[in-house]
Amino acid sequence: MKKTKLLLSIVLMLGLWLPLGSANVHAATTFKDISVNHRGYNEIMYLATGSIVSGSLDGRFLPSNVVTRAQAAAMIGRALELNGEQRKTEFKDVGSGNFASGYIQSAVDKKILSGYGAGIFRPDAVVNRGEMAVMISKAFGYEFGGSLSGAANALMSRGIAQGMSNGSFGADYQLTRLDFSIFLARAINYKLRVNPSVLFQNELFVTANSLNVRSGPSAQYSNIATLVKGESVQTAYKVGNWIYIKSGSKEGFVHSSYVSTSVNTPSPTPPSQESPLASKTIVIDPGHGGKDSGAVGFGLYEKTAVLDTALKVRDLLKQTPFDVQLTRDKDVFIELPDRVAFANKLNADIFVSIHANAATSSATGTETYYYSAAATNTRTTESKKLASAIQARLVEAWNLRDRGVKNAGYIVIKQTEMPAVLAELGFITNADDNAKLKSPAWRQKAADAIYLGILDYYKGNGYDVTKLYNIVNK
Ligand SMILES: [Zn+2]
Repeated sequence: MKKTKLLLSIVLMLGLWLPLGSANVHAATTFKDISVNHRGYNEIMYLATGSIVSGSLDGRFLPSNVVTRAQAAAMIGRALELNGEQRKTEFKDVGSGNFASGYIQSAVDKKILSGYGAGIFRPDAVVNRGEMAVMISKAFGYEFGGSLSGAANALMSRGIAQGMSNGSFGADYQLTRLDFSIFLARAINYKLRVNPSVLFQNELFVTANSLNVRSGPSAQYSNIATLVKGESVQTAYKVGNWIYIKSGSKEGFVHSSYVSTSVNTPSPTPPSQESPLASKTIVIDPGHGGKDSGAVGFGLYEKTAVLDTALKVRDLLKQTPFDVQLTRDKDVFIELPDRVAFANKLNADIFVSIHANAATSSATGTETYYYSAAATNTRTTESKKLASAIQARLVEAWNLRDRGVKNAGYIVIKQTEMPAVLAELGFITNADDNAKLKSPAWRQKAADAIYLGILDYYKGNGYDVTKLYNIVNK
């Protein structure tokens, strides 16, 4: 048993964690109260790498603490990359001020968690082992027959949990942070399980030119291999939008957007003499300009970083049949309503605004906004699709924290009449993000990502943009 554990640690250190030391900015934290010999070390560090768990302000993990329903919702929500933006919920006892309000509502929407009726959720109630087994079974799609014992069996049969020394599952025992971390990490990565084994049963093909295989199900985990377009992968299971795959000796997580049952998703658009893309105008909107410098950090102006990025996106789109128009191509001030009028007058097909974020120095990451009108309409749906496509590519390119796709009523995305998004590349006020915003090479990567996101969006809508992917990196 000890030997197995030691071997497993070595395999994990070599296979999963070695690349973290150098390039990855999200290198795993350490906790004062979790030594390398701690029985939950591997699992806790695995979750910490993906920012699924974090420690106390004084650097402890507090493994013996109990887990509340709100904390469980947040951990599962982060693992599945659910929308964690704090917001109003359907529960009287979970206000938008609750740190987990977003995760609670998202998990309830996905039927991973439920309330107690009459608008009560009990966010501060302590979770027991049986409830945890049900949550994990629902979150990871295990068939468990709806009962506590079924959920316990679902976890035990997979080597995620073991029974207590008396042979029972201990469903009524309070769950500790240590146990929850161990179970969650094992559910995510089968290599952490007791006697790890998993069935690879379905075949899919890589549809992206280059696809990262990661050690965990988010862009915060390091790349451990790369696949190329057309490569066949065997799939085991899904974690949120990520799939655990194997291809030869390569094994790990890939984003589900870039694998499909066929290499080339057939285009429903019939080929014609003139490209159907030629009639589509894409408006790129670099934020701020002139007297409005936007956010400032480390001597860098937002207006400068986003203009250069936008010009690079334009240079890429100019090599395609698309018609590309910029709201500004130099350092001038333009009112927000004038940017909106510009796009509406052109009858633009899509609108992409580029910005950089600002907050405290610790805030980091990439986020993309769209405007969700009260009534669901085509533009809302398409805006969200476009935002998701660009966000995924930006996160892939810059490897910053994935802050997700969010709703907001910014004028340029609210008053424009076409699918419209606003991308916040990173935080100009954060040292790491700022370094990327400042660097022409990293701006090129952001421009490539926005361009690829736009292609992904059109591809998703059935347009044949296959050849246009090659413009990047030429
Ligand atoms: Zn801005």
